[in-house]
Amino acid sequence: MRVQLVAGNWKMNMTGPQACALVQGIVERVDQRPDVDVVVCPPFTAIERVKDELRDSHIKVGAQNMFWLESGAYTGQISPLMLMDLRVDYVIVGHSETRGRFGQPSDEMRPVLGYFGETDETVNRKVKCALFHSIQPILCVGETWEERQAGKTDDIVRTQLTGALRGVEPDEMYGLVVAYEPVWAIGTGQTCDDEEANRVCGTIRQILSELAGEEPADNIRVLYGGSVKASNAKGLLHQPEIDGALVGGASLDAHEFVEIIYGAQREG
Ligand code: PEP
Repeated sequence: MRVQLVAGNWKMNMTGPQACALVQGIVERVDQRPDVDVVVCPPFTAIERVKDELRDSHIKVGAQNMFWLESGAYTGQISPLMLMDLRVDYVIVGHSETRGRFGQPSDEMRPVLGYFGETDETVNRKVKCALFHSIQPILCVGETWEERQAGKTDDIVRTQLTGALRGVEPDEMYGLVVAYEPVWAIGTGQTCDDEEANRVCGTIRQILSELAGEEPADNIRVLYGGSVKASNAKGLLHQPEIDGALVGGASLDAHEFVEIIYGAQREG
């Protein structure tokens, strides 16, 4: 049985002191629940302080992005060696906000989205690099609203997974986590309904099994992400194909985040 995983993506929020306060609030409430794996992904600047706060806790730390080379003239990038230095366990790769596929871009953001420019090729390099350095990638895939309306959800997910995992050996896939994150549900308050999220996560597992074989695919955790909150977590996380959640906005509130972790608890 795959252990449920709940990961909080703090995005571009939390200064060091704010991050410490948030993580203390989570630890106080959650450390008695070791049967769900928990990860927080602070901004790079807060990782060290958060790691320190979590030194006696089972909660793991992830980064929100990573470059695919170890060092070089890449201004502003963070390398796998830097993350290893901070003892980071996970890294989010291919998030729609780094692919430039924002759910509802504001008029101000629309003209500059090209700046982010993550592609399946760069996502592939990052996945391989993370696995090579024993940092578990949380690989995000998902369709925009227009793509869903056009009936392309499964094709988009297949293209993104195939592109991201090109050249990854089946026995390396055990280190992978996949998050199904419909772009239209991220930060919008609009959640994919439970059965449909379950269906797409099942399709993802099917594609993983075609790419890597049944056994690795059975061990890969497939999360759902997109406006998960305390009030909808249980319905989503009790679906058989959903192994946890990638949580954005609601992970910034210790009480909400912990309720989601409780919601992930498998019964019986
Ligand atoms: C995310 O950033 O991965 C996410 C799912 O955000 P939110 O929960 O705010 O929709």
